[in-house]
Amino acid sequence: MNKSAQPGVVYLAGAGPGDPELLTLRALRLLQTADVILPDDLVSDEVLALASPSALIVPVGKRCGQPRITQEGIDALMLEHAGPKDGKPGRSVLRLKSGDPLVFGRASEEIAALTEARIPFEIVPGITAAFAVAAELKTPLTDRSSASKLIFATAHHAKDKLELTPRWEGSFPPDATLVIYMPGRRFRQLADELIASGIAPETPCVAVSKASTLEEQVHRTTLKQIEDEAIGPAPVILLIGYAIR
Ligand code: SAH
Repeated sequence: MNKSAQPGVVYLAGAGPGDPELLTLRALRLLQTADVILPDDLVSDEVLALASPSALIVPVGKRCGQPRITQEGIDALMLEHAGPKDGKPGRSVLRLKSGDPLVFGRASEEIAALTEARIPFEIVPGITAAFAVAAELKTPLTDRSSASKLIFATAHHAKDKLELTPRWEGSFPPDATLVIYMPGRRFRQLADELIASGIAPETPCVAVSKASTLEEQVHRTTLKQIEDEAIGPAPVILLIGYAIR
């Protein structure tokens, strides 16, 4: 089977947490062969260094100080490059997202746009931040005696409002590991909301900043002791629960 990027096809692929060693072979092959690469800003420079020298790389993440490209803008770029031109198939497009493309990656909008435009596409999974962090900390996310559930949540809601989505109705399962992506910067407030929603204040918590990079910072604490200042710069992921003790 020919595994190089095909003309006119869009690949929604995961780049993993940053370390190129954690790319899939499939993602690596696509990096080496795609005509156009559209990376999010969390995709590391080390990963992009593996791209073909002839590839056109158009970063589509939000860059400090620059206006964010809209989702419609990203959709338009994919269609523009991959769409057929003068009856010939368009270019191969690698839409590269950090971690796994289907975890908090706005993939539904892109899938809808590609489907509507009848552009063939493929999804290539990647190692999501939670799994990379767990491996690095040598910490199981589930445990036979303390964690039989694993919950991936984001604390960052569409309108920059700090609230867990979905909100917990009733009590939070005490035997769960909760992983929070995009926790924002108000960790103390987030922890108070979690405590108010029924999670014990003594619950262990670990915040990992810039996981799998040289600037990685790990902060181990409990929900009641979380302090905003103690946690390193974005991206940060929070792991909460007794399994991560
Ligand atoms: N699709 C990605 C998640 C994108 S949402 C994935 O599967 O990993 C972006 C959030 O992911 C960040 O706010 C942070 O919570 C988390 N994240 C991504 N890369 C990270 C890293 N290297 N270290 C810590 N958190 C990371």
